[in-house]
Amino acid sequence: MSGTAKILDGKDTAKLIRADVRQRAEALRGRGIVPGLTVVLLGDDPASAVYVRNKERSAGRAGIEGATVRLPADTSQAALLAELDRLNADPAVHGILVQLPLPDGLDAEAVVDRIDPDKDVDGLHPINAGRLVTGRAGFVPCTPAGVIRLLDRYEIEMKGRRAVVVGRSHLVGKPVAQLLLSRHATVTTCHSRTADMAEHTRDADILVVAAGRPGLVTGDTIKPGAAVVDVGIHRTVDGGLTGDVDFASADRVAGWLTPVPGGVGPMTIAMLLHNTVLAATP
Ligand code: NAD
Repeated sequence: MSGTAKILDGKDTAKLIRADVRQRAEALRGRGIVPGLTVVLLGDDPASAVYVRNKERSAGRAGIEGATVRLPADTSQAALLAELDRLNADPAVHGILVQLPLPDGLDAEAVVDRIDPDKDVDGLHPINAGRLVTGRAGFVPCTPAGVIRLLDRYEIEMKGRRAVVVGRSHLVGKPVAQLLLSRHATVTTCHSRTADMAEHTRDADILVVAAGRPGLVTGDTIKPGAAVVDVGIHRTVDGGLTGDVDFASADRVAGWLTPVPGGVGPMTIAMLLHNTVLAATP
C-alpha cells in the first residue's frame, strides 16, 4: 500500500526563502551594504569541505558575499580565537560560522563563545540561546528555525496542540522545543533515557525527530494524521540518504511528512542565509 501523508517539501520551501533573501540582499546593496558571511574551516575533513563549499555557493546565489577562512588542523586555540576577534571587528563581515566539529584538542565551547553574538548566524552562542528562552529577538539556530518555517509554510497549527520532540541537543532538539513552546504548543521532549518513548510519540499532533538514529520512529508509534518532521540524516550503504523516521511505514499513518533528502536539510542552509541578511540589516 502506498502512503497517504502529504509531503512537507523542504526543497521547494527553501527556494521561496532563498528568493526572499535575494530580494533583501539586493535592497541592502542598494543602500551600500553588501551582506557578508564568513565560514571558518579547520583541517581537511572532506565532508566539512563539501558543506562549506555548498554554503559559499548558496550565499553567492542569494546575493551574499560568501568567504571561507581555511586554517590548518593544527591551528592553536589562541590563533583561532585571534582570527575570530579579527572577523568580529571587520565591518564587512556580518555573519560568522565556525564549521563544527573542530579538530581534536580545540575547545569548541570557547570558540563559539568568542563569536560576536550579533554575528552569530548559527545561533549557537549562549547569549542567543538565552534570547530564545526568554523570548527576545536574536539568532535562532538554522535547523530548528527551518523546522518551524516548514510547518508554517503548510499552515500546520501549533497553538494548543501536542508537540513531541525526540532529541535534546543544543543544536536541534532543545531549540525546536523552545520554538514550539513559543508558538503555544504543549511540548514534551524525549531523549535517550525516556522510559517509553512510543507512549509520548503516539500522542503527538506534531512530531519532530532529531535523535540521530536511523529508522527510530516507525508508523505504529505515530498518531494518525500527525505532522512528522524528520531531522535525521544518515548515509545508507548504497550511497543514498535516510532519516530517523521509517518513511514507508510513517507515510501510511502521518498526515504530513518530510522526505529525506528534501525535507529539513535544504531548510537549514536557507535559514543560514536568512540569518545573514538579518545580521547585515542595520
Ligand atoms: P545529537 O547526537 O547531538 O543528539 C541526539 C539526541 O537524540 C540526544 O539528545 C539523545 O538523547 C537523543 N537520542 C539518541 N538516541 C535516542 C533514542 N534511541 N531514543 C530517544 N532519543 C534518543 O544529534 P543532533 O546534532 O541533535 O542531530 C540529530 C540528527 O539530526 C542527526 O542525524 C544529524 O545528522 C541530523 N541533523 C540534520 C541537520 C539538517 O540540516 N537536516 C542539521 C543538524 C543535525
